[in-house]
Amino acid sequence: MKLDMLPEEFEKARPVLELLTKAGFEAVFVGGSVRDALLGRPIHDVDIATSAYPEEVKRVFHAAHKATIDIGVEHGTVLVLWGKAESQHYEVTTYRTESVYTDYRRPDRVEFVGDLRDDLLRRDFTVNALALKEDGQVIDQFEGLVDLSQKRLRAVGVAHARFQEDALRVMRGFRFVASLGFHLEAKTFQAMQENAELLTKISIERIFVEMDKLLLAKGFQEGLQALSDSGAWRYLPGFSHALTSNFSQDFHFQSSAQAWAWVKLELSDLDLKDWKVANDLIQKVEKIVSAYALDDYTSWEVYTLGLEACLAAEDLKKAQGKTAQVEKVNVLDACLAIHHKSEIVVSGKDLMMLGIAAGPEMGQLLKTMEREIVLGHLLNEKGSLLEWVKKQALKNIEEL
Ligand code: ATP
Ligand code: MG
Repeated sequence: MKLDMLPEEFEKARPVLELLTKAGFEAVFVGGSVRDALLGRPIHDVDIATSAYPEEVKRVFHAAHKATIDIGVEHGTVLVLWGKAESQHYEVTTYRTESVYTDYRRPDRVEFVGDLRDDLLRRDFTVNALALKEDGQVIDQFEGLVDLSQKRLRAVGVAHARFQEDALRVMRGFRFVASLGFHLEAKTFQAMQENAELLTKISIERIFVEMDKLLLAKGFQEGLQALSDSGAWRYLPGFSHALTSNFSQDFHFQSSAQAWAWVKLELSDLDLKDWKVANDLIQKVEKIVSAYALDDYTSWEVYTLGLEACLAAEDLKKAQGKTAQVEKVNVLDACLAIHHKSEIVVSGKDLMMLGIAAGPEMGQLLKTMEREIVLGHLLNEKGSLLEWVKKQALKNIEEL
């Protein structure tokens, strides 16, 4: 198969290939970008594979006054800064094989090879093992084009062995079901089932990346269905049962936080700390989970949880056919006197001028003041706030 016209992203990257081929090396586009181009899907990260060694790649580009960054020279990868834009930074990787996966995790050894076929052999699925030459010729060593037209995910070579080598591919399989809308070929699915237990040997950070991509994909419900059918969910932290969804077909998650909040609501035993995710994400998830639990909102909840989390929670409820309060949350947020305590026009310093000593009591006073402002009981205006403070102070004295 030969493409008459290359998508723009490849056209832009074509001079990168040409520079390598003119220097006497082989160079091709490879992996996800080739797959996506053939599917007419948007292309991101154009990856290049070459017969040149990393040192040779660097030499070729430095001679053309292009900068390179060593981002994984031991694995054969050099980043070539062809243009200023990030879309014009290309990962150029030497043809390689990966051998002896004694721990089911990472290859023990990466070996550079001279032949593209050997490089394609190490790749996970046939549709990810397609290459494209600068003249538009598609290189298809494993009938990936047939699989592409049949929307089929099939492991390259002997499926069982491929998942034994690297069990992350089990998760990648479900992820591609979700993102491409493909189905798993029977032997491939069987091998995924048989090797799912090896997921316990894979670092949770790598599993998270794939699970996150699965959840954010349009076809996440199909991806989850395959994960559920396979039983592989048993080897994911906190999954005490299979995760099934009953959202309408056109629903998809707006953010990682929303997706993981839904997971957390479905699987109460799940602890995101076990997934080693960033604290920032954990906090966002917790806010959405708290908002989801509310039957009704006051300004205070919208203020403390934030508009984004409240809307994410209400959007989830809506997608589940439950009563949602999108309007109310929007109105409450729009009417908030302040969105952050830094907007309060009176500070601790002002209270000290009134003779209130710094300490826990002042902290409590400021907190009450914040709440009263948010609830609309108190104007965020210096005069009224100081009046209020004086009254509170008097009240405290009376209580003594
Ligand atoms: P995406 O569009 O989500 O980036 P992708 O196919 O480009 O999908 P990447 O994770 O970016 O996926 O990997 C690039 C290519 O490297 C894949 O297409 C595949 O050929 C190969 N690859 C990546 N991870 C693995 C793996 N664990 N085992 C085998 N091959 C892999
Ligand atoms: Mg990619």
